[in-house]
Amino acid sequence: MIGLVVVSHSAKLAEGVRELAEQMTQNTVPIAAAGGIDDPENPIGTDAMQVMAAIESVYSVDGVVVLMDLGSAIMSAEMAIEFLMPEQQPNVYLCEAPLAEGTLAAAVQIKAGGDVNLVMDEARAALAPKQKQLAGASKNSTPPSETAPPDAADGETLTITVPNKLGLHARPAARLVSLAGQFDAKLTVKRGAETVNARSITQVNTLGARHGDTLTFMAHGTDAADALKAVKALVDDNFGDQDGTPNGTAPAADRPTIAEDIPENVIVGIPASDGIAIGTARHLQAQMPEIEMRTVADANAERTRLATALTAAVDDLKTVATETKRKVGADEAGIFEAHQLILQDPDLTDVANNTIDHNRQNAEAAWWSAVEAMADRYRNIEDAYMQARAADVLDVGRRVLRHLTPGQPAAFTFDKPCILLAKDLSPSDTAQLDPENVLGIITAEGGATGHSAIIARGLGIPAVVGAGAGVQIISEGAKIALDGKQGYVWQSPNAAQLTELRTQRDTWQQQQRELRENSRKPAITTDGTVIEVAANIGTPKQSAGLLDAGAEGIGLFRTELLFMDRAQAPTEDEQFEAYTQAAKALDGGPVIIRTLDVGGDKPISYITFDHEENPFLGHRGIRYWLENTDLAKTQLRAACRTSAAHNIKLMFPMVGTLDEVKRARALLEDVQAELKSENIAYDAQMEVGIMVEVPAAVMNAAQLARHVDFFSVGTNDLTQYIMAADRGNPKVKGLVSPFQPAVLHALRRVTDAAKAAGIWTGMCGEMAGNPLATELLVGLGFNELSMNAPAIAEVKAKIRAVDSVKAREIATHALTLESATAVKTYLSQ
Ligand code: PEP
Ligand code: MG
Repeated sequence: MIGLVVVSHSAKLAEGVRELAEQMTQNTVPIAAAGGIDDPENPIGTDAMQVMAAIESVYSVDGVVVLMDLGSAIMSAEMAIEFLMPEQQPNVYLCEAPLAEGTLAAAVQIKAGGDVNLVMDEARAALAPKQKQLAGASKNSTPPSETAPPDAADGETLTITVPNKLGLHARPAARLVSLAGQFDAKLTVKRGAETVNARSITQVNTLGARHGDTLTFMAHGTDAADALKAVKALVDDNFGDQDGTPNGTAPAADRPTIAEDIPENVIVGIPASDGIAIGTARHLQAQMPEIEMRTVADANAERTRLATALTAAVDDLKTVATETKRKVGADEAGIFEAHQLILQDPDLTDVANNTIDHNRQNAEAAWWSAVEAMADRYRNIEDAYMQARAADVLDVGRRVLRHLTPGQPAAFTFDKPCILLAKDLSPSDTAQLDPENVLGIITAEGGATGHSAIIARGLGIPAVVGAGAGVQIISEGAKIALDGKQGYVWQSPNAAQLTELRTQRDTWQQQQRELRENSRKPAITTDGTVIEVAANIGTPKQSAGLLDAGAEGIGLFRTELLFMDRAQAPTEDEQFEAYTQAAKALDGGPVIIRTLDVGGDKPISYITFDHEENPFLGHRGIRYWLENTDLAKTQLRAACRTSAAHNIKLMFPMVGTLDEVKRARALLEDVQAELKSENIAYDAQMEVGIMVEVPAAVMNAAQLARHVDFFSVGTNDLTQYIMAADRGNPKVKGLVSPFQPAVLHALRRVTDAAKAAGIWTGMCGEMAGNPLATELLVGLGFNELSMNAPAIAEVKAKIRAVDSVKAREIATHALTLESATAVKTYLSQ
């Protein structure tokens, strides 16, 4: 039978706890007490030899569970294990559970015949009943003054009222955690009686801070004052929220009021993404790797395995975030940035590592139990939005698990159109769905504010979530329908329902079509200036449907995506195929292939970079590309070969000097000469341009313009370099705006230089897709705007309403304004 040891600084306390546990289990469980030290003058303390003796007295191969009070008790217990015979050591488990409650719960479980893991789990969970009972129920469970700030003598404090409508939901919480990580100061947040570590995403999330709540931040350390100043700036910025729903126009978050005449075959769920779908049911089985629980001899090796899997999962998430940003939008990509923070949360990683160390458990089992425990913490928060975050924790948990158990089933694909049914869908899985084949989504669990629902909306897939367990018994292949606006799911709709649904679906699809049809109309200002509107893509797959979305070409093909998520660089033929596929989808429209822009925040696993203090100012873009001529020439050959049959233009990123342009052009000429000697066709007139995204290129624009055929301004990088402000750093967030007067003056300089040299200017940074900037950009003289596909229809509609003369006046006036805020206010009037 499993033995139990109680270690305390006080002999009386250890004895008392043992007595209590023995009484509960009628002396049927071997329990030993090891309390105090053998010093009558100073009896309080712990003695490793005494702990060892206690362990030996109850030792069995079934295991011994040791519970300790605090401080040196833990050290004594650890030393005691070292004193034991080597064959005994792996069977002794130190349990971090609370001493009294944990010992009682463990004793009861031992009596019930549970194994060591169950005993430890019971002990750990032993505080839950007390927590539940005291939570809010007892007047005395919280200190009398709920909003009193902590003692200022302890550190600097800042008390604020949560300004944003949704409170500290996932993304504002992530912004706060990222900000806390940038200071040495220890930053805590207090809400009511609860104080949490501002560096832990889980702790901040589980605080459940809502709009109007009072929070007190306390900072300790040398840069405490700066940390609080940055927090204040974040709060003043509404925690970075726009105060809409977490993503645009989310349907009502709650289950709708059920009308009395709901037919029997209709399941009512939560509306999550507008639209009507009719199709065949296809169940998605959760892609959950098998978890085998093992006792391991080498805990260090397991910790290393876990660390490696965590790093790989963070790398994955960076790629998913980049992909989602391009495919769906920046807001949705933020979900995967928050996922990275979950993986770095010590509340998750420390718990898993401790389980590996203390329970000698394999990494998969230890990791999953930590993930489940954290997901439970979210599920137990009252707030529905926070409860939905449990799905995010499980999603990132599964991602790590897949790296720990390679060879497990990967992502799913569908070859025929279907309506997808699932218990719940993870945000990562949703982001991979292809709207061509997934007509609709129905989940048994989840809510409208779940991240998978947010992504479904971004992808334009109708969805009903939280429709209950009934969803799971719908037969595979059955005909079903859903209305994502109302939250209704029809099982085997009858003929009359089908007719009605088809009419509604056709009306909905017609509206969508009208939007798309208008989006195909050219973007010509009221006085006849034609602006070309194009799309940014990262993979050839993303070129499908671009014409329908209104794109007239591809203004930026970020080729680095072709190089990611694989073991080696794509071959010339593979690249040729990819460029050709994109060009074919655009049906003659121009495709601007940007040469590999690697480095900075765009790592590629098989390219090793030396450590750089400032990677954004380092060996990235054309700087790397020019020095890796094999890779560069392969890419140039593929682009040139594609240009033989398609409208291809070439563009170099991160150009700062004329020398770089000359070297890149020389390389291109070499490749063209090679192709010629091999009798391989290419377009000798292919336009060659550069991205203007480095301040040096702005200053040199007049000179550079004489050596290229076009400019395309990358406002994402240009803004951060002009403002010397990292766009990922919330402390300088206010500076990183393309509406900053300094950036606007740079844009003017670039378009003026291009005009003088007779070349055209485009923009492919995020600013191009912001309708607030459209009139200004036309007024500044941009000829082409390239953006994420979903933004095209609206920007084109805006252009059609612009008068170029007025737009020029607007641009001239905007250049006289003194701040980004003043510019934005002026443009929104
Ligand atoms: C930019 O910097 O604005 C740009 C379009 O390039 P990327 O975002 O790929 O760095
Ligand atoms: Mg860039």
